[in-house]
Amino acid sequence: MSCGAKRKRSGQNSYRFHTLPEVLPPPLPPLPHAAPEYPLPDLTPWAQGNCGIKGVHHFESHKPGPHIAITALMHGNEYAGAHALTQLLSTPLHPAHGRLSLIFLNLEAYAAFDPRRPSQFRFIEEDMNRLWMPHLIRSSHTSLEMRRVRELLPVIDTVDILLDLHTMTWPSATLLLTSMAERNLHMASALANGQAAPPQVVLDHGHPTGPRLIDYERFSAPAGTARACLLEAGQHWTRSAAGQSLLSARQILALHGMLPVAAQEGLCPSASCVNAMVTDCVEAYTASFAFVRPFVGGEIIEQAGTIIAVDGMDEIRTPYNNCMLVIPNLRPRRGHTAVRLARIL
Ligand SMILES: [Zn+2]
Repeated sequence: MSCGAKRKRSGQNSYRFHTLPEVLPPPLPPLPHAAPEYPLPDLTPWAQGNCGIKGVHHFESHKPGPHIAITALMHGNEYAGAHALTQLLSTPLHPAHGRLSLIFLNLEAYAAFDPRRPSQFRFIEEDMNRLWMPHLIRSSHTSLEMRRVRELLPVIDTVDILLDLHTMTWPSATLLLTSMAERNLHMASALANGQAAPPQVVLDHGHPTGPRLIDYERFSAPAGTARACLLEAGQHWTRSAAGQSLLSARQILALHGMLPVAAQEGLCPSASCVNAMVTDCVEAYTASFAFVRPFVGGEIIEQAGTIIAVDGMDEIRTPYNNCMLVIPNLRPRRGHTAVRLARIL
């Protein structure tokens, strides 16, 4: 679509234009209500853990090497990662060097999960993936999730390489998200490259509402050495997201010599990933924010100035060529993030 001559840049945003919008927004798509495609993992055998902390399974080689952790159920309704961990735990795990921790994070939110209301129980009291800041952890702030963060911190504070497993509400390409520290980009690229359908690697500054586990200073401080990335394995409760979670979990263990590098379905040594950096976080200013079509996360819009959404009297247009749409929320509430825009590196 062309850029109309009467459009006026709205505030500092390079993507928002105040105008009489050229297009009428379509009706909002219904919330996805996909039924779970595979049974909920039974965590009964694993909930106690094996090292004195609920949900934490720890394996020592007693030889030097990194401490690798794979975490699942940061969000109680995203159980693809828990499925992957139960698969790993049901085979003998003997790291040849270093240490391995497999961690079910928000067990309480998962225990409350009800397949008849699958969008609920992301958390019980507050989002556990916005709490990873030292001064908050040391403060008197309390909630079920905060108590769990404090319980897990002694383990997290010794982790060298961390993969946090998540899924998404709306359809999207698979993503590996990292904080801005360059070492995390290298970690994510090494994990993505070689997968037959490599996840897109996206660097971002995190959420204004609080740091994620991958933003915790141990993993994101410029001078640090510990690395972390977050896998968004696909849409919640789909078989493909469960497969992607297990593939990436096995892949990271194989990369660090903790599993044999076996021929696995889903691998292709010559495949390489697209890397992108988030430049803008598009907030819905009005309750009528609507995308002009149901974009799929990870789509790359070639032409700068392409209209992607209408927000009241504003048009949202891509600010540069080859703009990636990261996790579009097709029904954003006012004041919430509708999409993040990322530039291909
Ligand atoms: Zn999540």
